Amino acid sequence: MGIVKLIIIVLVIWLGFVLLKKFRKPADHTDQKPSTNKMLACSVCKTHIPENEAILQDGKVYCSKRCL
Ligand SMILES: [Zn+2]
Repeated sequence: MGIVKLIIIVLVIWLGFVLLKKFRKPADHTDQKPSTNKMLACSVCKTHIPENEAILQDGKVYCSKRCL
């Protein structure tokens, strides 16, 4: 009986982690975390910046208005 109880406890903890990950993923997506963002290189100064911060114009990537 002891082993069965242990297995159930482990399963419940594992299920909790799986559910937590599932619920956290969509939140991360809208949060714009740098780890999930693609890095782009500025075509002027070659600085790498996250895709959501990059300025795209005429098919080229710019890090800021200064480079644009
Ligand atoms: Zn730049």
